[in-house]
Amino acid sequence: MTAAGRSPYRVPFVDFPAHYRSMEAEIDAAIKGVLNGGDYILREHLRRFEENLAAYVGVRHAVGVNSGTDAIMLSLRAAGIGPGDEVITVAHTFVATVAAIVHLGGTPVLVDITDDFNMDVDLVEAAITPRTQAIVPVYLNGRLCDMDRLMAIADRHGLMVIEDSAQALGASLNGRRAGAIGLAGCFSFYPAKILGGIGDGGMVTTDSEDVAEKVRLYRDHGQRRATGEILCYGYNSRLDNLQAAVLDVKLRYLDGWIARRRQLASMYDRGLAGIPQVRTPPPPQAGGPYFDVFTNYVIRAQSRDVLVDFLKGQGIEVLVSWPKPMHKQPALGLGHFHLPVTEQISGEVLSLPMNAEVTDAQVDYVLEAIRRFYAVGGHD
Ligand SMILES: *Cc1c(COP(=O)(O)O)cnc(C)c1O
Repeated sequence: MTAAGRSPYRVPFVDFPAHYRSMEAEIDAAIKGVLNGGDYILREHLRRFEENLAAYVGVRHAVGVNSGTDAIMLSLRAAGIGPGDEVITVAHTFVATVAAIVHLGGTPVLVDITDDFNMDVDLVEAAITPRTQAIVPVYLNGRLCDMDRLMAIADRHGLMVIEDSAQALGASLNGRRAGAIGLAGCFSFYPAKILGGIGDGGMVTTDSEDVAEKVRLYRDHGQRRATGEILCYGYNSRLDNLQAAVLDVKLRYLDGWIARRRQLASMYDRGLAGIPQVRTPPPPQAGGPYFDVFTNYVIRAQSRDVLVDFLKGQGIEVLVSWPKPMHKQPALGLGHFHLPVTEQISGEVLSLPMNAEVTDAQVDYVLEAIRRFYAVGGHD
């Protein structure tokens, strides 16, 4: 069997079996430790992982929940968001960002994005109304937005900021990490994320004792286990002890993976530089202010859909996230927003294979295929 396992692709988008094998003994030991201890729910492995993740992000509290989606929803609820409240976010994101607002009875207010795929901070003030309570910036692909300016706007208007950091664990701006800037940060450990579990998982990070306490209550039915008191209606949204044990092993590798991803991003950046039909994302900066972790490597490509088919035919697995922005999904009822940059970009984005298991030779193969596609011409 090849390193790609059962994948039919010569360059798979992700290779979970290879990823696991690179840490096999440690992960197996962590799983056995959980099984032999009979420790499944809210136990020591979870507490340890929460402590380690809080230290990594640079906050006082981290609270494990069962997904990134719940991390956003429970943080917004802890921030007091409810019916009638407007929350400003973007349409070029995973549906979960918007759904978390709607599930609380809040109203999403969508603003456009800019060339780095993140919220256009220049458009935020015009979107603020007397009902606005919070802003949810999304750090897409592992790059923060212009948080210095966004926090200044939020402070000026008395708004809370909940960071959708689901794609940005380890990323920073001016030395401050994603998840340590707003009132709370929200992380996802969905397997394909930069720190992925063996199933679903999420985390809320915060310096606020009040937010941490509330999320701990909400995730566990609103109950105080010591006394049996129920303090509010809550949810079942705990991070499994088993997931925490595995994630705690993988957290030790994260900085190494990020370094490799940045290296791969530089290789893609150099290799694509001479192709006029392709626009590359901001390249890794050596000395900041932005430290991007390249959870995804997303290009903007002319004749995108034809290129996708061509690359797949060459054995290269690519993704389009997302071909249809949230305000163009009829079922979501957000059709009243007009977001020209979002609409333009959604027709051009293409995510190339990007993870720590991708080899230099695979990058060369991808670059060669893209060059060949545009050199044959007739696609623009
Ligand atoms: C993955 C993701 C989420 C949701 O996380 P889940 O763990 O899948 O619930 C939210 N926002 C963004 C930007 C994401 O990429």
